Amino acid sequence: KVNQNTNKKTARNFWGERAMNTTVHNFDPQALALKYQEERDKRIRADGNDQYQEVTGDFAYFVEDPYIESILERDAIEEEVEVVIIGGGFGGMLAAVRLHEAGFEDFRIIEKGGDFGGTWYWNRYPGASCDIESYVYLPLLEKTGFVPQQKYTNASETLDYCNIIAEKYRLHERSMLQTLVTSTDWDEDLGRWMVSTNRQDRIKARYVVHSNGPLNRPKLPAIRGINDFTGHTFHTSRWDYSYTGGDAQGGLSGLADKRVAIIGTGATAVQCVPHVGAAAQQLYVFQRTPSSIDVRNNQATDPNWMNTQAPGWQNERRRNFESIMTGAPVKEDLVADGWTEAFRLLFGSLRDKAPSKWRMAMWAITGVASKQLYQQGLKTYLTNKATQYMNLAEEMELADYQKMEQVRARADQVVEDPDTAEALKPYYRQFCKRPCFHDEYLPTFNLPNVTLVNTDGKGVDLITKDGIVFDGKEYAVDCIIFATGFEVGTDYSRRAGYQINGVDGLSISDKWADGLSTFHGMHVRGFPNAFFFGPAQSGFTATYTYSLDEQSVHLAHIMEGLKQRGAQRIEASEAAEQKWVQTIIEKARLTADFQEKCTPGYYNNEGQVNTQPQNNTYGGGPIEFFSLMEKWRDKGDLSGLELR
Ligand code: NDP
Repeated sequence: KVNQNTNKKTARNFWGERAMNTTVHNFDPQALALKYQEERDKRIRADGNDQYQEVTGDFAYFVEDPYIESILERDAIEEEVEVVIIGGGFGGMLAAVRLHEAGFEDFRIIEKGGDFGGTWYWNRYPGASCDIESYVYLPLLEKTGFVPQQKYTNASETLDYCNIIAEKYRLHERSMLQTLVTSTDWDEDLGRWMVSTNRQDRIKARYVVHSNGPLNRPKLPAIRGINDFTGHTFHTSRWDYSYTGGDAQGGLSGLADKRVAIIGTGATAVQCVPHVGAAAQQLYVFQRTPSSIDVRNNQATDPNWMNTQAPGWQNERRRNFESIMTGAPVKEDLVADGWTEAFRLLFGSLRDKAPSKWRMAMWAITGVASKQLYQQGLKTYLTNKATQYMNLAEEMELADYQKMEQVRARADQVVEDPDTAEALKPYYRQFCKRPCFHDEYLPTFNLPNVTLVNTDGKGVDLITKDGIVFDGKEYAVDCIIFATGFEVGTDYSRRAGYQINGVDGLSISDKWADGLSTFHGMHVRGFPNAFFFGPAQSGFTATYTYSLDEQSVHLAHIMEGLKQRGAQRIEASEAAEQKWVQTIIEKARLTADFQEKCTPGYYNNEGQVNTQPQNNTYGGGPIEFFSLMEKWRDKGDLSGLELR
């Protein structure tokens, strides 16, 4: 490690202040840049998303519902409703709540799971928890009066909360659970969607809300021999407690005499590994890329604090959180946790003095910036300050190195075996992958029954009938748990599990064959009266429920607008859709540089960044997107939408 005193020359930012923490570094930035590039390059694969396989055919059992007590028996339903909402997760529930508040009561929610909850219905693995603060993450807290027990809620409490919402808004009586939509077909003559299900239901609906979840379809790596394994296997999103024993809090007594392999070390594995490590006779964790593991420090909620908050506090809090995350200026950091810490500490002194520049600085560190942004920014803000501004980009990079050095140092401090500690260190910028916050994951590797099998970016070689092979060594196991995440970037209808056929039978797969095309992420030309919820071409937040809530408000606004005008058909205009796609492409350029340099993962389309720039979220960040939508709503003319 080199003491980089020479960096003093870049320690002043472009408006003459000394940026914090950048005077002296106990690391060599050039060496780290090289190391990051090497780590990235060795992980880039030509097959990108195709390295994964669909959970169909022999693998269909991976998506069966292990949580229902019995299969619901019922007759097929034929009916007509005003709105069908597909998906009973937070998105679907919020859509229902906002429609109800706007006076629309004639809706049906169709959900494939046995109950409401979406992500939280499926992901009940031991340790499952949300690392976004619960007061920010759980929507509608002011309406339900619910007080989460801790700063970071766990999966069981979140699922209970989903039920509280469902009960409060009487959603169960308007739901069709354990029901899989198989297709939605537009009938132009009737002006209705025909929604078909696996239970032979035929529901006619004037409007359909597609809220089927961006991370809903489990994926498996296409590892040679994966079919040959004769032991037990399951995916983390369908945890088999009948095999492991215990529950989401742990206590996996069924594993006491079992040798277990976990493949994958993303945010899910980080949460379940400590429980499996504590219970299994032997645990092998097969790692391709280590996660960044920062401090979590969960705390009990002070109910008095919650009770004394002024009306509107939750919206203010989540806006404050996302503002910090995406660079908009704020007076104080209300959440004050690991997510906000990096930004608060490194740039706090700059923030209040120069909000617009602070915002750009924040973009830079979150990766929502690039040289192009600096160049654009230069035109707008600092045409004569080019050199200093590029120095700022360097400062951001240095700050990121420094943060990640802390994260890497933590591995050394906590993990006793130096080789294992080294293998657990992430070498990429913090927001290249979902950062993790956990206090028990790293210590698990000190247990005598837990082995990290570091595949150094390669992934496992082979699965045999008895276990897993890497580097010529076979690890015999009784059970393989796939913590390999979810499909992102594959065909929409494949992930949704149903096809959407619009005007003249055009399918959404065909419409989007060469890339996404929407208006505001929500409307699609050729698919009238359909509303799409999700991050695509929309404002993506770390607090995903915040985006969903904003989308539900937007939906209700449009539905009210239609009612007021007596309109019954709505469709994005050709021009508005094209313009929005162009906006997304333009804004995607802001992130492309950063994403290019990142280690592959679903955040950067497995390293294939520029193939379809229109398949991005809104590159200006969520707060900018929400403001844009608010302005659009305030205009009140539903511009860009054709009404009949
Ligand atoms: P991820 O996609 O993040 O992780 C999948 C893991 O599987 C990665 O470590 C990946 O390695 C690994 N992998 C894939 N193929 C192979 C292979 N052939 N051999 C070995 N390893 C392989 O999925 P997760 O379920 O962990 O997380 C998905 C998302 O869910 C998160 O990003 C987050 O948004 C959300 N989440 C949030 C949580 C929270 O709030 N705390 C908790 C859990 C999930 P590689 O990195 O090399 O691709």
